[in-house]
Amino acid sequence: MKSLNETKLFNNSSISDLKKEYIKSLKDKEFEDYVRSIHLPHEILMKYTSRLETCFNECKNCSTCKGLENCKNEVYGFYLKEEVDGSKLNFEYKSCKYKNKELKDNKENENVYIFDIPKEIKNARMKDIYLDDAERKEVITWLTKFIKGYDKEKKMKGLYLSGSFGCGKTYLIAATFNELSKKGIKSAIIYWPEFLRSLKESFDDDFKERFLYIKKIPLLLIDDIGAESVTYWSRDEILGTILQYRMEEGLTTFFTSNLDYKELETALSITKNKVDSLKATRIMERIKNLTIEKSMVGENRRK
Ligand code: ADP
Ligand code: MG
Repeated sequence: MKSLNETKLFNNSSISDLKKEYIKSLKDKEFEDYVRSIHLPHEILMKYTSRLETCFNECKNCSTCKGLENCKNEVYGFYLKEEVDGSKLNFEYKSCKYKNKELKDNKENENVYIFDIPKEIKNARMKDIYLDDAERKEVITWLTKFIKGYDKEKKMKGLYLSGSFGCGKTYLIAATFNELSKKGIKSAIIYWPEFLRSLKESFDDDFKERFLYIKKIPLLLIDDIGAESVTYWSRDEILGTILQYRMEEGLTTFFTSNLDYKELETALSITKNKVDSLKATRIMERIKNLTIEKSMVGENRRK
């Protein structure tokens, strides 16, 4: 490209607005360098001044950006980029490196159905887990082995993970499911108290569909069991049926709870009207058949 002053274009007395704008923008040395790197004549470039400025500014924003949440560009997570097409320019929005990562991460989770689970849990990663506390090491080791050895065709037990609020139970199992999702394994994480509430409110078809989906999914986490108010319907019709089916079909099922096996048995025996230990024991037999009990102690990691 010739230097600007040498170009006939700029000696013309009737400088159009386009040219004026173009010349003005080139006073910025950095922008001039940017425009030069495109290797097209000024006559063509000047038609695109304002879009080229956008490209230049967005590219600059990206070069110092630390993450999606700091995005300054017009379209969140994207930057405008010119592309030479013969003797003209085309413009296209391209996703930035952070957006690309987000897209990739979501794809990795695409096999995990979640119901009423917070976002940070949804994106839980095995490689991101805190290894700082020994209490959890045993659980993490168990889950790592599970990921390696998981086989849909085999009857495999899940974990019944009990422990205090916020110690990371849900997080660890979500990370396990996300890892297996990369291998195409379908799973579901349902926040049990809310799932029951919503089942109760859903209409016939919707209800049946969701109920069957949860019953049959290869990997299931029933999250926070014991936190719901127990009714005959939720215990015997819903939970009982799901567990019976999963037991017979050898479908791996995980649970998290603030209560251990014994405490859950007590909680399940009490409905509004009466105490029914036999029914609770029957449910517990199924849970025990499906899982290995482990407890986790740890600090509350919720902020
Ligand atoms: P629980 O199910 O035991 O009540 P959660 O799994 O919801 O606890 O974890 C509580 C919070 O701590 C969540 O916000 C979660 O994102 C975070 N957290 C828990 N464990 C980890 C971990 N290993 N690595 C990173 N964040 C974690
Ligand atoms: Mg939880």
